[in-house]
Amino acid sequence: MDDVKTILRNYTRSKKAVRDIDTFGAAQNYAEKLGKILADAIGTEFEDVAEEDLALVLRSVLKRAYDDSAVAAASAQYRQNQKAKLGIGTLRAEFDPANADKVAEELAGKIAAPGLVENLIKQSTIGAVDETIRRNAEAREEMGLDVSIVRTYSDVGLRAGTKYSEDCEWCLERCGEWDNYKDAKDAGCFERHPGCLCMIDYHVGRTHSVSTGGSWVNI
Ligand SMILES: [Zn+2]
Ligand SMILES: [Zn+2]
Repeated sequence: MDDVKTILRNYTRSKKAVRDIDTFGAAQNYAEKLGKILADAIGTEFEDVAEEDLALVLRSVLKRAYDDSAVAAASAQYRQNQKAKLGIGTLRAEFDPANADKVAEELAGKIAAPGLVENLIKQSTIGAVDETIRRNAEAREEMGLDVSIVRTYSDVGLRAGTKYSEDCEWCLERCGEWDNYKDAKDAGCFERHPGCLCMIDYHVGRTHSVSTGGSWVNI
């Protein structure tokens, strides 16, 4: 494992402009790419690394990638607001250090199995996009806007216990289209396992009345 400075330097060099991102699909692809860069920088050999040291490194580098991924998703949300002529704010997912600690617990003292580091880190960075979508969808529905959510199946890395030739039943059960936030959430649409690359997208209806602090307007 390289030191934190080297990892961050490699990571920063590979970053592109986050605020140009205008769709949730592009935000997810970006989060996936960041996850891969970070996984490559961190490596796979942790047999001489103490869990607390690894947690310290991951809290720093994973937070950065998580925040960048959340900004990418918030940027897509901002563009969607502009298109729909909605003058409402954009929410962003916030990093929880406990996520880094969980990854450290999984990896410390071991040589990681192929793909494991990448899948765990992507689960965090893509999770930042999911959580940003989830928060905004929830907030818009609470404002009285119609929200539609789609999860499209796309697993490349597979869930533990699933054979490569098989579809992932766990994800298939969580894929579909919903015309409101609550049903999507209850169906597990925003949940992922490491290696899941399903695409989550959502839209806000335009032809509905919205409460804007007391007065109703048509948008
Ligand atoms: Zn799956
Ligand atoms: Zn999936």
